[in-house]
Amino acid sequence: MSADVVLSQFFDFLRFSSISTDSTHQAQVLECAEWVKQKLTSIGLEASRHETPGHPIIIGRGPWKKGRPTVLIYGHYDVQPVDPISLWHRAPFNPGIQDGMVTARGASDNKGQIFAHILGVEQALKEKGDLPVNLIMLIEGEEEIGSPNLAPFLHAHREELACDVVAISDSAMIAPNHPTFTYGLRGLVAVEVTVTGPDHDLHSGVFGGAVENPATVLARLIAGLHDRNLKVKLDGFYADVKPLQAWERKAWKRLPLQERALLKMTGSPALRGEKGFTALERIWAWPTAEVNGIGSGYQGEGTKTVLPSTAMAKFTFRLVPDQDPAKISRIVQAYFKKNAPPSVKVTVTPGHCGEPYLVDPNAGFGAAAQKALGRLFPGKKPALIREGGTIPIVAEFKSILKADTLLLGLCLPDCNAHSPNETFPISHLNLGANLNRYLLEEIAAAGRKK
Ligand SMILES: [Zn+2]
Repeated sequence: MSADVVLSQFFDFLRFSSISTDSTHQAQVLECAEWVKQKLTSIGLEASRHETPGHPIIIGRGPWKKGRPTVLIYGHYDVQPVDPISLWHRAPFNPGIQDGMVTARGASDNKGQIFAHILGVEQALKEKGDLPVNLIMLIEGEEEIGSPNLAPFLHAHREELACDVVAISDSAMIAPNHPTFTYGLRGLVAVEVTVTGPDHDLHSGVFGGAVENPATVLARLIAGLHDRNLKVKLDGFYADVKPLQAWERKAWKRLPLQERALLKMTGSPALRGEKGFTALERIWAWPTAEVNGIGSGYQGEGTKTVLPSTAMAKFTFRLVPDQDPAKISRIVQAYFKKNAPPSVKVTVTPGHCGEPYLVDPNAGFGAAAQKALGRLFPGKKPALIREGGTIPIVAEFKSILKADTLLLGLCLPDCNAHSPNETFPISHLNLGANLNRYLLEEIAAAGRKK
């Protein structure tokens, strides 16, 4: 396929406003799903469309041969909303190129990355009429809303979807031209806490001093989550934490992403976190307790002398292997219940959970992925990193399909995913197509999962 055709097809893919969270874009989501199915069919995969209670899942299958490994490549065709629209330099669903960068909503997350894989499969099938492995492509339309229908779909189709390994490109390289292999993710526990004192807001002059202030109680509870070195003080919180390995600590110190870059990215006056660890170690491999939102009392202009009736805060706890989200959720709930004074009522509402994830990057298909990345960037050793975020589907692939996931990000750290002016380097279509080809070849060479 000529470069012009590749680009025009990529732009067609980007023109669908496939915003999964917004029902006014439903028709575009469905048209985009159909486009993906047609594209997979046109390159020689056996493509099928599966309806779900939400948006369709598209499956593409390559030629099947007994005895060789089966690889499932996952991606998503849905995108995030575009607001605030005024900050975009061009219309988000009218893609264009400037200085080698394609700008459009979904350019990186995830249309560019999954399209690159499709191109790699297309090239290999055109040249050889076959792929080195049995291939399943699974491209869904609900990733940006938490993939509510993916796990039931995996359950229902677990025999047809049985595979030796999953590969996903839906994350960033650590720096331009720096091959990156992500082998760990943090998990998550969310809770919301409401502290209630008097049954209505009171006059702080008439009652202040006699009645407990829920905002003060909540502040004390929040402060009690950490000690002065920012270690989380909850009983048993660290009991199952897998220690960082010596090789990780050594390797991460040499990565082209250090504290200065983090300061620049965050705009914070200084970095801070649990004592005894570097910033990357704390983000990638250590658990946290974070307040995500807090509210109580009067927040309008000027003064209002009120003793608020309630105070609330939202929390997420990022978890690392081998912490169990259900167990940490119980520990967190117990902390708030136990430490609330009798002068208030505390309700703790558990929210969603996600398992942490970790594979040995040097074992099995991890080694194959590293070889593929090494071929992509000759002479460069892939950065072996973990990520601080949570990708719940990775744990679902593990628990339902019993397959590990290779996370091979193809976008750049400043790609503006989920933000205005999302970009993807046009050269990364070719880069990703080559990664796809090398990866499938190296997995074939590594053989089936023992
Ligand atoms: Zn996203």
